[in-house]
Amino acid sequence: MVVCHNIPQVKSIISTHKSNIKSVGLVPTMGALHDGHISLLRAAKESCDIVVVSIFVNYLQFNEQADFVNYPVDLDSDIRILEDEKCDIAFIPDTAHIYSESPVLKLNFQHLEETMEGKFRPGHFSGVGIIMAKLLNILDLDTIFLGQKDLQQVAVIRKLIADLAFDSNLVVVPTFREPDGLASSSRNKRLSAEERSVASNFHKALILGRELLIAGELPLKVCKRVESFIEAIDGINLQYFEIVDSHSLRSKSAINPNDNTSLCIAGYVGEIRLLDNINLNDH
Ligand code: AMP
Repeated sequence: MVVCHNIPQVKSIISTHKSNIKSVGLVPTMGALHDGHISLLRAAKESCDIVVVSIFVNYLQFNEQADFVNYPVDLDSDIRILEDEKCDIAFIPDTAHIYSESPVLKLNFQHLEETMEGKFRPGHFSGVGIIMAKLLNILDLDTIFLGQKDLQQVAVIRKLIADLAFDSNLVVVPTFREPDGLASSSRNKRLSAEERSVASNFHKALILGRELLIAGELPLKVCKRVESFIEAIDGINLQYFEIVDSHSLRSKSAINPNDNTSLCIAGYVGEIRLLDNINLNDH
């Protein structure tokens, strides 16, 4: 595996692969790699000749300074994991390389960024869009691999690719979960043992919501039932539970079995903000 810390080096390596007609896939991450990231890397290896994993903690997408400062960083362990997984290129740029000047650009994804996460994380998706556009411009990519766990991020990046005509495919990889259903996340490492056991209720709430929808309950009623389920649990501060179209992210008032519907949840367990979703049809 080649570890690249600067842009000219990674561009030159990728351009050599492209001139040899190799397909190049990117798994963009913020590091502190876990099984969820590894599942993306494995999916990328199955369909691309050359796999790049980027590790970059993008300050533009953090709306709370404390979250940025406390974001876990463990580059030695990350590089070991990537080597074990036979990643081809680890792209680990410094902030000064990516943002030699602080961007003045702001992206507005309208409804896609105003709902759910956007209500609690102003500016987050503009930061996500800017880093993705930069990576798509720097690296000559055939495909990018994103986790279903960040459903709203996927919707935003799908629109970014369409609106700016980036010539890359987007592949969405299913959420990797711990045995009790909690979605793997870099933030899970910061949960105490007690918080960790409370956290599995996020997934239970999603499953409850899906069962109620399948049984024919209307979305509004399902939201109320799931909110009551969460409110009865000590230690969770729910921010939202929503039933939405998986692409437009518009709230559903009724369910049609042919629609692509997702159930989404976010909130705090102690100081740690957790986020999850499931698709109505994945069971
Ligand atoms: P992050 O490092 O948190 O920015 O995540 C990098 C990529 O990994 C994003 O596309 C996430 O959606 C994806 N990801 C994070 N957690 C999981 C998971 N548990 N299962 C699948 N993908 C994930």
